[in-house]
Amino acid sequence: MGASLALAGLSLSGCRRPEAHLVPFTQSPEWVVPGKKISFATAQPRRRGATPLLATTFDGRPIKMEGNPLHPLSQGASDNHAQASILDLYDPARRQHLTKGGKKASSADWDAEINRIRAELTSTSGSSLAVLADEQLSPTRDRLRAELQRQFPQSTWATYEPLAPGRDLEASALVFGENTEFRPILSAASTILAVDCDFLGSDEGDLSDTRGFSSGRRTRQPSDSTNRLYVVEPRFSITGTMADHRLRLRPSATGAFLLELARQIRAAKPSAELNALLSQSPDLPLPEGVDPAWIRECAADLVSHGNRSLLLVGRRLPVSLQALALALNSSLGSVGTTLLVQPSRALPSATLAQLAEKIRSGTIRTLIILGGDPVYNAPADMNWSALQSSVPNTLHLSSLPNATSKQSTWSIPGTHYLESWGDALAVDGSYLSVQPMIQPLWAGLSQLEVLSQILGQPIPIGPSLIRETFAQRTGLAGEKLEQGWNDFVREGFLASPAASPTSRTANLNAVAGLLSRIESSPAEDPASLETVFIHSAAVDDGRYANNGWMQEWPDPMTKLTWDNAILLSPETARSLGLKNDIIKGILVADVVQATLAGRTIEAPIVIAPGHANFSASLPVGYGQELCGPVAKGAGFDAYRLRTSTTDYQAVGLQLKRTGRTQQLAVTQEHQVMEGRDLVREASVNEFKENPAWVKTVGMDAHIPPNQTFYPNPKLDGQHQWAMVVDLSTCTGCNACVTACTAENNIPIVGKDQVMKGREMHWIRVDRYYTGEPDSPESVSQPIACMQCENAPCETVCPVNATVHNEEGLNVMAYNRCIGTRYCANNCPYKVRRFNFFDYNQRALDKLYWGPLAPKGTEETIKLQKNPNVTVRMRGVMEKCTFCVQRIEDAKISARVRARDSADLKIPTGTLKTACQQACPAEAIVFGDLLDESSEVKKLRDLPQNYSLLEYLNVRPRLTYLGRIRNPNPAMPGARTHYAPSHGHAEKHSTEKDTSTSHGTPDHPKQASHE
Ligand code: SF4
Repeated sequence: MGASLALAGLSLSGCRRPEAHLVPFTQSPEWVVPGKKISFATAQPRRRGATPLLATTFDGRPIKMEGNPLHPLSQGASDNHAQASILDLYDPARRQHLTKGGKKASSADWDAEINRIRAELTSTSGSSLAVLADEQLSPTRDRLRAELQRQFPQSTWATYEPLAPGRDLEASALVFGENTEFRPILSAASTILAVDCDFLGSDEGDLSDTRGFSSGRRTRQPSDSTNRLYVVEPRFSITGTMADHRLRLRPSATGAFLLELARQIRAAKPSAELNALLSQSPDLPLPEGVDPAWIRECAADLVSHGNRSLLLVGRRLPVSLQALALALNSSLGSVGTTLLVQPSRALPSATLAQLAEKIRSGTIRTLIILGGDPVYNAPADMNWSALQSSVPNTLHLSSLPNATSKQSTWSIPGTHYLESWGDALAVDGSYLSVQPMIQPLWAGLSQLEVLSQILGQPIPIGPSLIRETFAQRTGLAGEKLEQGWNDFVREGFLASPAASPTSRTANLNAVAGLLSRIESSPAEDPASLETVFIHSAAVDDGRYANNGWMQEWPDPMTKLTWDNAILLSPETARSLGLKNDIIKGILVADVVQATLAGRTIEAPIVIAPGHANFSASLPVGYGQELCGPVAKGAGFDAYRLRTSTTDYQAVGLQLKRTGRTQQLAVTQEHQVMEGRDLVREASVNEFKENPAWVKTVGMDAHIPPNQTFYPNPKLDGQHQWAMVVDLSTCTGCNACVTACTAENNIPIVGKDQVMKGREMHWIRVDRYYTGEPDSPESVSQPIACMQCENAPCETVCPVNATVHNEEGLNVMAYNRCIGTRYCANNCPYKVRRFNFFDYNQRALDKLYWGPLAPKGTEETIKLQKNPNVTVRMRGVMEKCTFCVQRIEDAKISARVRARDSADLKIPTGTLKTACQQACPAEAIVFGDLLDESSEVKKLRDLPQNYSLLEYLNVRPRLTYLGRIRNPNPAMPGARTHYAPSHGHAEKHSTEKDTSTSHGTPDHPKQASHE
């Protein structure tokens, strides 16, 4: 209500919803205490299944998203897009008016339009209507769709998602029967082979995949079993960083690889069904550079683990390859244990191509586009822009303006998922409530509301439509319905009926017929590269392009911000005469002209270690000029090269030097800690032989027990806070970075400042390469303020602005800071951030205005700020304090609970930092060292626990568990030796070494700065 009051001045007329008046509280709503947060269950609809979430609200104002801890899939975890979605709610660029032909339209105009559409549809039985919708997996939307079909039987309903072409559903229908789909159960898998499938990334995977995988990866004791991961992929993904064995492979060679894998599985486990399956397969040569022994040993490992093995292939690969993978899973016995088959959640719909055909035939007179941006991201050969223009009347519902809304007759402002009632299915089929947290900031409508109007129904009030669906799904009535509904809304979900461990019989005959479609890969040719259109880990398919947090979020592998780039392997770049230079910490990239099938774009290139040779990866989602000021000018539009037949991969890309270069904001050169043994790794066997191997690495092997001349600060608090990060489970997904940004009011600084190394993230995730530049291994390491007990920053601060508290936290007194930055210079970990400008006080296009220029940022952006965290000003140093505001909040709660008793201890496990709470891999553990039962205490006592730069004797409270890999000794070239025998680690971070800590092998690192 408070937020609604604050926003009363912002509400604008347009689409009509029932009018209600805002009045001050005479009696406060239940549970609302001014200044106290309340969390509500909701869910973020996504194309492959909604994410169950909790929204933290202050006075009716949602400020932060967390995973729903009650839901068995996420168990409280979230990811960077769930975290970033809160910023989209407050985006001032959102559509605020209903427009017709680009001009503001009134409610009366809209009512007349609805009446006109209904009259037209009644006369044509709907044949003149087509609805093009994004994929939301909403049962209520499906119900309205069925009603639309009933009222107007000849209408068309099409679905389009640029990055989910639905080939996995086709493959499942073929192998397991109509209306089925499959999902992996990573927690049950001990050997996993992922072929061009980034299941730990946000495109292919779900939070439950990361949760499940990391549960099998957590190796705390030498006796613990560890899963093993093989990855075959064209470019380094975050799944690739977790691989025990990684093979880089051009995308066109995937078919030949899978066929050879099938033969090797048959050799290891002969079966009549595999004989029959492979009898019709083409005899393709092995891909160039692939050692047959690699496939043989990998197949043998999969077979030896029987139904605990799992083969995953990318969901955008051809149906034939996905079907073959399902058949192989069936042969391995995985179906029912590591691969579940369940009823399909999506209703069959027309495809975009089928809709295009109808439009061409001239039957469609009214086209309603619910979400999405097909003018921007439809296949280039479809010329959707012209097709859409040929429809006499187009209506587009979207929250942000974009290319499609600009070209539509009617442009309807859409609501954010936190503003309107909805529902959705999660990947396991559980039913989630999408509960609004705030009245629509502007006059928007939801998809359900638009559909209701088209159906001749009034705009639904509150959750009436969802409640109806809930009643239908549960069969509840009367009081039981009331009780069930309240539980559903409170907990946020209705569990799916327990999935029966069905061992559906795979129809291998159907697969056999497809194998002849698999072709051999063309010869390697620098003049004709293979191309993969990849999703962007930051902006996804482009839907987060106007989200400043996502633009400034470093890509987990390239560390690129505010841009996309064509990714090439070092060898491919060399053979094309292309290069990247690092000049004063800025990546200066060659710009190329990229031509594919007669279409040309210009783009910078980034040399990406571990990328397959003679192929290029093009991240989509950038180059949008119409969806807001943040997206404007960021990156190039790779969709312009994508066609209907090459929506994932293509052959024949030509790159030509333009002679120009482009500066890119890459954070890998920032805040570096040169040439130290920062990341420590060992194989499972080495860990078993010497559980304390981390103590034998680098300088740590030589230093005497640390002593200090100075007395430690008095650490006599009731709690002693500490954090441990498990490098074995951290995937480098960077969700912690976004969670920290949202929690701590961390501003964005823009591309120009990022290029100067001035990004403000309090936690960063360093990405290291080891080994040969063309085919290295990679590991990620989150770095935040270490809360050193002997903090070097404190001793140099002339005004005591950074001091120690009695609980071991290195805290900041912002209003005492005079901005000398001595502390940042003296910090060995480079974790302090300085406000060079008034980032929090300025709109993005005025970020760098001087101190005397007028201040003030958009009202809606202010609404996202966490009221428990100071918004910092120009000239002030800031950094992580283990979410001290959460600690203080927990202390107040403990004091309230304690009443007259002296027990003010915060109970074990009840307090989480923002990064810890978001982490889907549960890699971050935080707690009280004085509490013997706390997880953090147990981890600190493990022999594999170590500190960064231990020999400096700064006594960090943030420590790490060394990474443990599980290589298969039988694999060709297996690196089984990671830990040094005495004092000299595999170098991760020297300039001579082909491996470098932050830089790519082609770019030795610069000295640390700022
Ligand atoms: S610690 Fe951060 S980067 Fe690592 S898995 Fe967790 S959220 Fe992702």
